[in-house]
Amino acid sequence: EAKKRAGNALSFFTIDQDEKAKRKLYIINHLSHALQRSEFDIHIQPKVDLNSGEIFSFEALARWNSPELGQVPPSVFIPVAENSGKIRAIEQIILAKVLTWLQKRKREGKTLFPVAINISNDHFFHPYFVADLRKTVKEYGISAKYLRIEITESVGLVDFDLAKNIFEQLKLAGFESSVDDFGMGFSSLSYLQQLPVSEIKIDRSFISKIESEGTLAIVRTIVQLAANLNMKSIAEGIETVEQLTILRTIGCNSGQGYYFHKPMTLDEMDSILDREQH
Ligand code: C2E
Ligand code: MG
Ligand code: MG
Ligand code: MG
Repeated sequence: EAKKRAGNALSFFTIDQDEKAKRKLYIINHLSHALQRSEFDIHIQPKVDLNSGEIFSFEALARWNSPELGQVPPSVFIPVAENSGKIRAIEQIILAKVLTWLQKRKREGKTLFPVAINISNDHFFHPYFVADLRKTVKEYGISAKYLRIEITESVGLVDFDLAKNIFEQLKLAGFESSVDDFGMGFSSLSYLQQLPVSEIKIDRSFISKIESEGTLAIVRTIVQLAANLNMKSIAEGIETVEQLTILRTIGCNSGQGYYFHKPMTLDEMDSILDREQH
């Protein structure tokens, strides 16, 4: 009996590992189809002024609605896309969706807001990254000031000098950049000081624990650092009025989170903006 159970446990473990590998392979194979069959879309989440609640810009988030797998979360398919050389193609689709939205609003005479797209390291370091961006916004007739780039601090660890150079090219071309998930990547503060970025996004893991004294000290330090470097600090993942109150008290004036708006479809966002403007 014991032997049988051990056997089952072993095969269970094996199947589990097997399933994981299979699922990953399945996702890799389906990513190519998904690209061909246009299964990617975006949701958009406002960035708001924490004092007035007013929307000042947006973040576009990739969504994959697979007929076979259902809604696959970015936390699952983005790492697979990064490891299988598909991320650049996916992010170009995200970019096109964002620019199409801005173009439509522009044509309809509606207010435009800057929209940030998330860019993976591979895409960021691609030799034609900035040149392609410039060309694409031009094709859509959208000013570079309406497109922003979010990138995690790990780019600085890959190749700091090259990263700095690309941030400078972006700035020169009129694209503002944000450091995403700040606080998670152990980046050196003197590195941050040298990068021409305009926004630091404080990772949600700090905001969700902001009621603890140690975490609050960290967040306060990041907010002060950003202010000293003439950057905006923006809190990710604000869910409660308590978190909001603390953030305001320590001088953090911008944020995103379910407390204000969940990520939503472009149509849903259009109706919210229409309502606000009437
Ligand atoms: P991120 O860039 O830090 O985006 C914020 C994530 O937090 C989003 O998850 C958003 O839906 C979620 N979020 C926003 N407010 C709240 C809140 O109040 N509470 C909670 N619990 N979550 C909140 P999502 O859309 O699942 O995306 C996860 C991550 O996937 C993103 O984190 C980003 O790193 C990555 N990602 C998404 N789209 C892209 C893309 O086009 N390219 C790349 N490279 N990464 C992407
Ligand atoms: Mg982001
Ligand atoms: Mg983030
Ligand atoms: Mg995050």
